[in-house]
Amino acid sequence: MKTEFFDLSGDGRNGIIEKAARVIRSGGLVAFPTETVYGLGANGFDEKAVLSIFEAKGRPHDNPLIMHVADLDMAAELGYLNEAFYKLASEYWPGPLTIIVKKHPIVNDIVTCGLDTVAIRMPSNDYARELIKAAGVPIAAPSANRSGKPSPVTARHVLTDMDGRIDMILDGGACEVGVESTVVTVCGETPTVLRPGGITPAQIEAALGSVRLDKAVTQMLPENEKPLAPGMKYKHYAPDCRVVIVEGKGAVNYIKARLAEDENACAMCFNGEEAVFPRAIAYGEEGNSVSLAHGVFAAMREADGRGISTLYVRCPRKDGVGIAVFNRLFRASGGSVVNV
Ligand code: AMP
Ligand code: MG
Repeated sequence: MKTEFFDLSGDGRNGIIEKAARVIRSGGLVAFPTETVYGLGANGFDEKAVLSIFEAKGRPHDNPLIMHVADLDMAAELGYLNEAFYKLASEYWPGPLTIIVKKHPIVNDIVTCGLDTVAIRMPSNDYARELIKAAGVPIAAPSANRSGKPSPVTARHVLTDMDGRIDMILDGGACEVGVESTVVTVCGETPTVLRPGGITPAQIEAALGSVRLDKAVTQMLPENEKPLAPGMKYKHYAPDCRVVIVEGKGAVNYIKARLAEDENACAMCFNGEEAVFPRAIAYGEEGNSVSLAHGVFAAMREADGRGISTLYVRCPRKDGVGIAVFNRLFRASGGSVVNV
């Protein structure tokens, strides 16, 4: 299959989005920008098209997809929208928040992997919402990377992973947030964050009065335990090399010592620290979680193809959006954290 690549920043924007919407309606796959990461979209009501997402990504068949909607009417078609849903949607939609509700029968089991719930999000990226509106159907979309690889935050990243596997890539520039959406379920008694992202647990608590963090967010679960968000069980988001997170006051010296022992080891550090290490990739400003979220996946992708043995990562703060950054690094490391 030939993958067509289109830049949305020029004059032809409307025509390109119309064309992409036709591809979606006719069962094809389109990668498109959102404010979180690039998504790989198909018509959420077309079983065959949705199956081809799993195929193109190499995604395990027990990891459900998010349905992307352009308005609340589309969301109401998909699931049972309760009071907590409406409170969250009125505060944070459109935006980087995915809300899980009980599904309506119209939603195919292929999308939800047999669960009786559905994940719904209204993205704030204008191109994304225009595409969904033009397609006239909810767009089922996971991140547009090969399964297990770091999520794509530029159209070039998508091309690297998906060239020849999908119909179209829409280039809308770099993603604003840089990590995937926060996933929260409002099906149970207490709203629970299953995956941290651009909307913080504190923001959810502010809207609903309470919030819980699923333990899979900060821990690797034992083999026999199933997380509430199936995607959280996989070693995920990883570059080709081993990843080790280093935290504590001695982190810089520890990483320096490891790099002195191993000439293929590399530091993933904060901006301005590059000169401290013989080999380093910076991923954002120290203490600035928004900046680190923006840079974390691009830095891991930069590590690919460089023959790096181990990437020693300076640990981000774990509050606010920092939880999301730590969570992605933690998954990439397979739970490997050194405290020095
Ligand atoms: P991705 O599409 O790569 O951003 O991943 C979507 C995330 O949402 C994964 O972690 C899924 O396991 C999770 N997810 C999607 N649908 C559901 C659902 N119905 N219940 C729980 N988690 C879900
Ligand atoms: Mg993903």
